[in-house]
Amino acid sequence: MSNDTDYRAWRVHEKDGEYVGTEETCNTADLPDNEVLIRVSHSSLNYKDALSASGNKGVTRNFPHTPGIDAAGEVVESAGQPAVGAQVIVTGYDLGMNTPGGFGEYIRVPAEWCVAMPEGWDAHKAMVYGTAGLTAGLCVGKLLRMGAAPDQGPVLVSGASGAVGTVAVEILAGLGFRVTAVSGKADQADALKALGAVEVVGRDALEASSKPMLKPAYANAVDTVGGSPLAEILKQVQPGGSVSCCGLVAGPKVETTVMPFILRGVNLLGVDSVEIPLADKEAVWKKLSSDWACPKTEASARDIGRKELDAALKAFLGGKSSGKIVLDHS
Ligand code: NDP
Repeated sequence: MSNDTDYRAWRVHEKDGEYVGTEETCNTADLPDNEVLIRVSHSSLNYKDALSASGNKGVTRNFPHTPGIDAAGEVVESAGQPAVGAQVIVTGYDLGMNTPGGFGEYIRVPAEWCVAMPEGWDAHKAMVYGTAGLTAGLCVGKLLRMGAAPDQGPVLVSGASGAVGTVAVEILAGLGFRVTAVSGKADQADALKALGAVEVVGRDALEASSKPMLKPAYANAVDTVGGSPLAEILKQVQPGGSVSCCGLVAGPKVETTVMPFILRGVNLLGVDSVEIPLADKEAVWKKLSSDWACPKTEASARDIGRKELDAALKAFLGGKSSGKIVLDHS
């Protein structure tokens, strides 16, 4: 393999303050000078990709740019490990932010960004989970490390119909937790119940209230939305319970009192899936490919091609996306 292969990519250009994504031919010679060249067969869609594609400078500083914070495929050039021919997963770090990402058929990344494909998996299956599945796994893992157990009471998942939420619902239900899913999409209630949610409630269940504390209704929670719903969750968690917090679709600002923390000993657990050590990512991928497998999410994932990326990313920004979407480059 020479380093001057043409390939197709969905690139975003900035034109008069507008950000427009289009499919075009690129060349691997223009990829960054890293150790491992990967032929990407699949990527996965995430909220952060929608932010990048719409010109959010906190995610991507310079355009034109190829988004895609997730990628899976085969190593085609490498000086050592991972070896040429290996199937690998790359998620997070700078991929798709300011390093050309998985919406192109090739990426060139540092060796220490590459996770070996779990046994029995292929690139498509890995990208059904993608960063969202990894994040859901990290959220559940943190709750478990804090001692969460099914007999303590219900566990709440917010943003439940989203990419992180659906996987969190299925993992928790699979572990025997009684899951209450919070969703703004009434038409997703049956799908969430099929994933294992016992109860599906509307977003009004987390409507802002002026009370500093509410009746403790949930033993633990996975919050994927942040903002005022997170403040309301903290008021409703039982003594000693924990809330994994990973997202901000409802806003980055959380106005809370200290009451849930000092009166009920509630734990607020931050979850980052991007910059954590590779070994932490590997541990979760291993779980997702074994005890935490989500067969229903796998069966319901939707495959799209590069031509459908624009509409799919816009649905994310409008809060209208649901389930897992895999980008198939073939
Ligand atoms: P999605 O857009 O797929 O899901 C978010 C869900 O949140 C939506 O489906 C919707 O679910 C709900 N939602 C949307 N807008 C609002 C709103 N204004 N108020 C309340 N709920 C809303 O995104 P992802 O699941 O991929 O990501 C979720 C969050 O997690 C994002 O903020 C993302 O940036 C973050 N994230 C963080 C990571 C980390 O490393 N910390 C990694 C991955 C994601 P419903 O209609 O069912 O209520």
